[in-house]
Amino acid sequence: MDTIQNYKCPCCGAPLVFDAGSQGLHCESCENKFDLDTIRQLDDAERLSGEESKFDWESYTPRDFTPVNGVDFSNYSCPSCGAEISGDDTMGSTICPYCGNSTIVKGQFEGVLRPDYIIPFKIDKKTAIAAFEADFKKRPFLPDLFRDKKKISEMAGVYVPFWMFDCDCNANLTYRANRTHIWSDSDYIYTKTDFYKLLRSGSLGFENIPVDASKKADDAYMEAIEPFDYSDAMDFGSAYLSGFLADKYDVSVEESILRANARVRNSTLAAFLETTAGFQNVCAERDNISFNNSKIRYSLLPVWMLNIKYMDKMYKFAVNGQTGKVVGEYPVDKKKKWKFFAKVAGISLAVTLAIAYFML
Ligand SMILES: [Zn+2]
Ligand SMILES: [Zn+2]
Repeated sequence: MDTIQNYKCPCCGAPLVFDAGSQGLHCESCENKFDLDTIRQLDDAERLSGEESKFDWESYTPRDFTPVNGVDFSNYSCPSCGAEISGDDTMGSTICPYCGNSTIVKGQFEGVLRPDYIIPFKIDKKTAIAAFEADFKKRPFLPDLFRDKKKISEMAGVYVPFWMFDCDCNANLTYRANRTHIWSDSDYIYTKTDFYKLLRSGSLGFENIPVDASKKADDAYMEAIEPFDYSDAMDFGSAYLSGFLADKYDVSVEESILRANARVRNSTLAAFLETTAGFQNVCAERDNISFNNSKIRYSLLPVWMLNIKYMDKMYKFAVNGQTGKVVGEYPVDKKKKWKFFAKVAGISLAVTLAIAYFML
């Protein structure tokens, strides 16, 4: 019975002893009795959840990019923000889609990878502009420059590089929790608290966790224009790039893995925590998460971008090239705002005067 002697009481930590009468385990310190199978399960769960998490991703094998289907590409770099973008020769644009600088230069650069997937642009420039214009109709104090057709027409379609992560995740977690019941009779109020150790294990599949692979693309903007519908993703073909700009990754897959791991871990913890509904004071103790079937793909996702400089500040806008969702920070034209408040003040003054007039 050596193995049994090694079990510790889950309530107080004292060694458990085998009780021949009940064929179970008994704690001489806190007097609790346990079923042998339950203690074995608990011991297994403690051991598993105490192991170190392993986030083993498959290694990614880059594929060189050689344009096919007769599309000729030129590479441009932006001396202002360092962006390195490609565009086919039909692109007349010489404005950097990331920073608005208009002196981008043709150049050569290394390290272009052939993407695995691409979500083609679903909305054209006219529709993207209409989505942008509809969004700023809600903003009465927007400076006139933002309504300027010529300025808005600088909007450029950019395929932004993303690393996409898939994995099946196995997790073992333990929690402490309790349940309290309160009842009363004519003399007393009773409180009964049951203490629980919760064991959870299971697996969870993740598909297409996106992590943007461009340093110039603002992470917050790229997360704000999500979601993308990955059922539209196609095997990459360079014909899709025709008429658009394409950025290349400058955040390595290794750097992106850290962000993917954080997203997997947080989503896993949140999903398992939901299974503890009905308990109170749930406190996570240990967790062990490991992967299998992991997959990494390099993908290009469609984003319309526009930069407008106003009062020495560059305002950036992004429109999801698939759904038309608009993200951006809008400035307020202070003069317009004051005019508006003066008008409102004028109206209320007139109303006050009218009331005063009727009271005379
Ligand atoms: Zn005990
Ligand atoms: Zn730039």
